[in-house]
Amino acid sequence: MFDYIIVGAGYSGAVMAERIANELNKKVLIIEKRRHIGGNAYDRYDEAGVLIHQYGPHIFHTRVKYVWDYLSQFTEWQLYHHHVLGSIDGRKVPIPFNLNTLHALLPGELAGKLESKLVQTFGYNVKVPILKLRETDDDDLKWLAEYVYEKVFLNYTSKQWGMKPEELDPMVTGRVPVYVSRDDRYFQDAYQGMPLKGYTAMFEKMLDHPNIKVMLNTDYKEVISTDWHSKSVRLFGVPFEGKLIFTGKIDELFDYEYGELPYRSLRFQFETLHQDRFQDVGTVNYPNEYDFTRITEFKHLTGQKHEYTSIVREYPQEYLKDVEGKNIPYYPIPRPENQERYEKYRDKAKQFDQLVLLGRLAEYKYYDMDACVARALRLFDEKIKGGANE
Ligand code: FAD
Ligand code: UDP
Repeated sequence: MFDYIIVGAGYSGAVMAERIANELNKKVLIIEKRRHIGGNAYDRYDEAGVLIHQYGPHIFHTRVKYVWDYLSQFTEWQLYHHHVLGSIDGRKVPIPFNLNTLHALLPGELAGKLESKLVQTFGYNVKVPILKLRETDDDDLKWLAEYVYEKVFLNYTSKQWGMKPEELDPMVTGRVPVYVSRDDRYFQDAYQGMPLKGYTAMFEKMLDHPNIKVMLNTDYKEVISTDWHSKSVRLFGVPFEGKLIFTGKIDELFDYEYGELPYRSLRFQFETLHQDRFQDVGTVNYPNEYDFTRITEFKHLTGQKHEYTSIVREYPQEYLKDVEGKNIPYYPIPRPENQERYEKYRDKAKQFDQLVLLGRLAEYKYYDMDACVARALRLFDEKIKGGANE
């Protein structure tokens, strides 16, 4: 009945399903354990009627035109440039730390001297990861690096990951580099915006095709059985010869044979207030106060007009796969030993031609939404379309 099975209805699964249905005119079954599509990008209207992001604030941004053009088939956009302030020493200052932040926090003469040194050393409009800035030989810049490290990164990262910045792959803190610039936006990508009617509406359009069936509220293990020794996959007990496209956790797929891959989880605390605005920008980070990392006010992101406003606080927590409330694997933890363990699983997966693994969980990668789309489009061309024409 089905030519392809896809596990997971997030970006990775939805893009694949859309391509298979529209480009190959083949039949796809998507199996999704949640009660909705969209994966972690799922949004919905809360009880007051405010559009919220159930799994944390999602802002779409990409440098890649074909990714933007691809998604634009399924949504119009509300143009939006994300701004973040950090609460530092009682002030709300721009994050990523930039020249405006420098002048807001430090006395004029010192800030001026440091600005000149930054520009001389790195150039203007250049992004410098904090761990790189800390390697500088210049005493003044070394002082600045320690200052930014302490005020912006150390405590936030300890809360978010339970680790120090240097215990994680440098790409993690490198996502929010010191920016030698006056540009206060969180991202500088050419294409930035929010789906005009929300992410879920965009996913509905992607999956609206007679060749695509979505089975919600179903863990794949309820309907699929795998026997890796005999290399066989069964769907509802019947042998299935087509491709199994898997976007769930790779360690789960292989029954934790090489041990669990660690993840970081979050607890979201939503609040709806009877007021137009709660804060000045979309997100305020609290590196050094409270147990949460940041507060996001959704109306800034979505542009919605409403007499109420809804906010969310993010409390990082340990991921425990068997504990309700802690069992959503929001972030892979980028560290060398975790990557090594992942590679064992990946190498095992390579033995099975039937399997295609993609996405934040199956590839154990800290992908943003646009990277998931780009990856799915590429794997569709390489492994699905190519294979279908053989
Ligand atoms: P997912 O969205 O996780 O989808 C995987 C799906 O598989 C899920 O729906 C899951 O329920 C399902 N599944 C898993 N196991 C099973 C199973 N056993 N059986 C059946 N179904 C299963 N990216 C940005 O670009 N911008 C942002 O601002 C941004 N903000 C973020 C904020 C937070 C708090 C988080 C956690 C992530 C953020 N991201 C952001 C990243 C973004 O969420 C991901 O890049 C994207 O959603 C990953 O898509 P995916 O399809 O690979 O995985
Ligand atoms: N970070 C930080 N302080 C900040 C913002 C970010 O220390 O004010 C670090 C922290 O380790 C965080 C990482 O940079 O996990 C990446 O931040 P980003 O905002 O990209 O995280 P995400 O939105 O993916 O949760």
